[in-house]
Formats: sequence, C-alpha cells, structure tokens
Amino acid sequence: MTVVDEPGTLIASPGDPAYEAATHVFNLAGPLRPVAATTARTVDQVRAAIRHARAVGLGVRAHSTGHGAPAGRPMDGDLLIRTRMDGEVEIDAARRVARVPAGTAWAAVVTAAAAHGLAAPHGSAPTVGVVGYLLRGGLSFYGRKHGLAANSVLAIELVTADGEARRVDAASDPELFWALRGGGGGFGVVTAVEVGLFPAARVVTGAAYWPAAHAPRLLSAWRRWALDAPWEAGTSLRVMNLPPLPEIPPALSSGPVLCVDGVVLDAESGPGTAERHAADLLGPLRAIAEPVLDTWETTTTAAVLDAHMEPDEPIAIAGDHLLLREIGDDGAARLLDLIADPAGSPLVTAGLRQLGGAYAAPPAPGGALDRLDAAYAYSGAGVVMDAGSLAAIRDRCARVREALAPWDTGRTAPTFVEDSEQPQGHLSAEQIGELDRIRQRVDPDGLFRGDVTPNASSLI
Ligand SMILES: Cc1cc2nc3c(=O)[nH]c(=O)nc-3n(C[C@H](O)[C@H](O)[C@H](O)COP(=O)(O)OP(=O)(O)OC[C@H]3O[C@@H](n4cnc5c(N)ncnc54)[C@H](O)[C@@H]3O)c2cc1C
Repeated sequence: MTVVDEPGTLIASPGDPAYEAATHVFNLAGPLRPVAATTARTVDQVRAAIRHARAVGLGVRAHSTGHGAPAGRPMDGDLLIRTRMDGEVEIDAARRVARVPAGTAWAAVVTAAAAHGLAAPHGSAPTVGVVGYLLRGGLSFYGRKHGLAANSVLAIELVTADGEARRVDAASDPELFWALRGGGGGFGVVTAVEVGLFPAARVVTGAAYWPAAHAPRLLSAWRRWALDAPWEAGTSLRVMNLPPLPEIPPALSSGPVLCVDGVVLDAESGPGTAERHAADLLGPLRAIAEPVLDTWETTTTAAVLDAHMEPDEPIAIAGDHLLLREIGDDGAARLLDLIADPAGSPLVTAGLRQLGGAYAAPPAPGGALDRLDAAYAYSGAGVVMDAGSLAAIRDRCARVREALAPWDTGRTAPTFVEDSEQPQGHLSAEQIGELDRIRQRVDPDGLFRGDVTPNASSLI
C-alpha cells in the first residue's frame, strides 16, 4: 500500500483490502485487475492519484459501480480510481437540475427528485451509476419523450490529465462538453454531473407476464402498437427464463414467460391521458390472454425502478446487443424461435426495448452520441455460473445475432454493450476523427487511453 501526499489517498496493490474494495464490481463477469487501485472521495484525492500515476508511469482508469466492467479494456498498466465522492444529491427545483457526485447510483437521484415532483432520466436498474450511464448515452424508459439521457446533462465536473479540476458546460468548453457526452471516454475522471430533471409527479408503470406460449400473438400486437405509440410511453418486451428462487413468484419460474414492462408519463394534455395511453397498449395484450401477473398501475416515479425486475446484488452477466430496424413478422418469428424456446434458453432475459420518438429525433443537438436511429434495442443476457453456462450463453447469443442479421443496423448503444469483444458501432468515422483531436488536446500523453471504448478512436 502506498500513501500519497493528499490525506486519505491510499494507492493499494493486489491483495490489499483497499484494492479489493476499489476494484469491486456489480457485474462479476468483468473482474478488474489493474496494477494498483484507490477509492477517491474528494477532488483532491483524485488529483493526488493522477499525480501518482504519472510519477510511476501508469495509465489512469475510472469507474463507479462496475456495472459496465466487462465492456472495458483490460487494465494492465493502469491505476484504477474508483469514484465514491462525498456529498449528497443536490436538487435545484426551480431550475429542475440535480447535481450528482460521482459514485452515486440512480436510486438516490430518483428519491431526491421525487420530493419535488420531478423525475430523472434513469435506466431500468436502481443500482446503476449515474456517471458511467450518462457518459455512455443512457437508455431510459423516459427516452422516447426526452431522448438519450446524455442529452439531459448540463455540466460535468472532472479532473483532466494535467491535474486540473474543471467544470465543463456548453459555454466553458463546448467541444469537450460535446465529447464527454457519448464520445467513448478517455477525457478525465468525472467527479460530479449536473443533469436536467422533468416534471412527473405520477406515472403509469409496471410489468405484465404471460406464459411464453402466447408470445407470437403478444409480440405481434406489441409491435403494431409500438409503430405509432405516443412518445410519453416507453416499454420493453422480453422473454424471461427465471430460476425457481424463493424471491420469484412460482408463476414466473415454471417455464419461459413473456414480460411487457415500462412507463407512461403523465402527458401535458391533461389528467387521465397516461391511463388512456397505457390502456391502448395493455388492453389488446390482456385480450389475447390473461396475464399470470400484472403490476401496471398509476403510481409514483420511484416504482419505475422496480418495473424491470433487475438484480439488486452483484451477479455475473454475459450477453449481446444489437440495434435493429423494424423486424417484421419474419424477424419476430426468428427471434422467438431462439428466445422463447419451450425447451428453455440460457438467456435469462432477452427481448426488445422500444426506441423511436425523441431517441431518433432529439429536440436539440446534444453530445457526440445524441440519438439512436433504430426501431429497437435488442439485448439478451444470461447468468454465468461456470464455463459451461458461459459457453451456452455465447452460443445462443451468436445464433440470435445470425438470425437477426437482416435487421441489424450495425450500430450499438454503448451502455448495452456487454463485453469489449462485441462488435460496436456507436459513432461515425467523422465523429471518431473529431474525438481523437479533442483527446489530443486534453490528454496529449494518452494517460486515459485505456478508458476509450472500442469504435471511439482510430488511434488505439
Ligand atoms: C442490471 C443492469 C441494468 C442496466 N440497465 C440499463 C438501462 O436501463 N439503460 C442503460 O442505458 N444502461 C443500462 N445498464 C448498463 C449501464 O448503464 C452501463 O453498464 C453503465 O456504463 C454503468 O455505469 P456505472 O458508472 O454504474 O458503471 P462502471 O462500470 O463503474 O463504469 C462504466 C464506465 O463508465 C466510465 N466511468 C464511470 N465512472 C466514471 C468516472 N467517475 N469518471 C470517468 N469515467 C467514468 C468508465 O469508462 C467506466 O469504464 C444496465 C446494466 C446492468 C448491469
């Protein structure tokens, strides 16, 4: 263990308890093995760690919760800074802005915003870190109304390679602000973000589940609804193969089930609109077959965090992701053959997240990644228990990828990429050239080069 000049900054080596704490990840399929690691709670500790890395010739990597750990490059030759910055989420209700210290998970922002009748552009899991999600774009159930979550970022506080602490926004450094929002990383260690909130005292949210035997008709009805669904509605349709665990209702674990979950925002057009929009979606689905469980209801925004039934404890997840054009009846049949297999599937969850709306047409240009021009984000994932289960997951993922190839846009959403080997296509060649130029300006020695995601630089 090395103690550096700033109080509380401990640079830990493998085997130290502080190393294990700093390298702790939510997704256990991506263990992090940097040369050294530290947990930073203050901006000065981040600066001291960067100075130390420079002095001993290490690169610098940053992480928050490790939800995205398997998607990162190996950390050989790097010092890892885990950001768990001191301080609470601060809400400026008049401006509808939250200032969030790095290391904070979305659940804390949702709770703080809800006290003011506001909602935040969070994803499906309460435990996901705000910073990694926002820097990589961020797909929220609110995204069809408000666009990729990175478009809601108003300012980013970070320490750059020269050791300076900066607050970057559209006025102070427009090109770095552009690059930070979806540009693939490699610009510095983020210590806090300011993110815009929106009014939503009440929402309609939940999940409905049916035996997968009804999947062909349910998927067809959902796709028909999704074609011109209101932008206030954001949903996903998945087939789930859940294990018989005490916390899972038996009706959901006795065979593959199809789940439609999501949220409908209270529209500005008046009371009752959200309920009507939800009924337009759920009525035809409930008419096909009675759900075995149906939790959709009008409630508060906090409940949106429960709708997708995400794991709340660290777990080893492996999977795959594609951005798809409209798949038509042929694509739907091919997808269901593989994910709603009556014999079961190693993919615990696999299906489509509805895009369109403001995902494809954001109200104003944002950062490097500010839109997703696709009908659906496909993702499928299983739980890795051993080499055999990993091989089965990989094999099923490859078969889904092959079956859906005719509808694959070749683009990807960075937050949905499950591992660094997966083909990625977040950005255009022109954007990548521009990002390389900006990295050259703010990090001429390439201190943060290991952090750059594949397809975000032509120099690595
Ligand atoms: C159960 C689960 C549910 C999910 N649901 C959604 C969803 O609904 N929508 C969605 O879009 N994504 C979702 N994701 C993916 C998630 O958004 C990404 O994995 C995201 O990168 C996680 O950010 P993090 O900070 O928690 O993770 P980390 O693994 O800690 O960070 C990921 C990357 O972000 C960058 N980063 C993190 N902190 C810093 C920092 N302080 N400074 C600089 N760079 C930093 C680094 O490049 C790091 O490698 C989900 C993931 C899981 C496991």
